[in-house]
Amino acid sequence: MSKQQKNTVRQTGRSGFTLIELLVTISIMATLMSMLLPSLNRAREMGQRTVCSSNIRQLTLAWYMYATDNDDHLCSADTEWNDPGYNWVADGPLIPGNNVGGTEDALKNGVLWWPYVGRSSDLYNCKSDGSDLLRSYSISRTMNGKTCNCEHDNIKAYKTLGQITRNARKMVLIDASSRMGWIEGSFCPVVQIDAVPPQWFLSDSRNITARHGDGCNLSFADLHGEYWKWKDQRTAKLANWGIDPEDASAGNRDLQRMVRLLRGIGQ
Ligand SMILES: [Zn+2]
Repeated sequence: MSKQQKNTVRQTGRSGFTLIELLVTISIMATLMSMLLPSLNRAREMGQRTVCSSNIRQLTLAWYMYATDNDDHLCSADTEWNDPGYNWVADGPLIPGNNVGGTEDALKNGVLWWPYVGRSSDLYNCKSDGSDLLRSYSISRTMNGKTCNCEHDNIKAYKTLGQITRNARKMVLIDASSRMGWIEGSFCPVVQIDAVPPQWFLSDSRNITARHGDGCNLSFADLHGEYWKWKDQRTAKLANWGIDPEDASAGNRDLQRMVRLLRGIGQ
């Protein structure tokens, strides 16, 4: 120890932190971090929700512009094509295993890719979607989705913009889950639109997501977007596979709201 160091120790009476002081400091820092982390996570999630909302509204604008450029005809809401040329995302014929619709090729083959979206996969992806798929959104089956070979619903889908009534209450795009390894091109999570009482559909209801604070983003035919926090706790559970669809249907306000959004021609 140099002479100067010896003088310093002599003046203060100590050479550094004691173990107790270090432990106290570390525990205070750990407490502060544990208080800070939840709010950091909340801020991060709020940021991702905002980006997702922006994505969904820009995709809806692309969807709208495509129709105005094509004699008012809506692009197909489905991603698997038997009649190629106008699907919003297109990944090939309807055959088993080919309905993922989340690859870059599927996005590029869709009619919205260029010039409406601008050759970027970013708009198709929600940052809170932890899956490997590039697409995180579905279009309401009401918006020119398939009605044939679809025994579980009863939608008379819109084919043109002009057919859509009460545009501000008709859903176009919605944040969707691909927990099953695939994501519906067209979204319809109820068994029959007109069934009383309505029921969540066994498989398609698995495309519901609650990844934004027990809710998700969606858009409407008048081009506005909304964030929906699920009102019934069973809906978030359903999205996370914590409850069977039949046990989450009775008196579910989210299901009733969803049915109203999915009304088609004449409703
Ligand atoms: Zn999202």
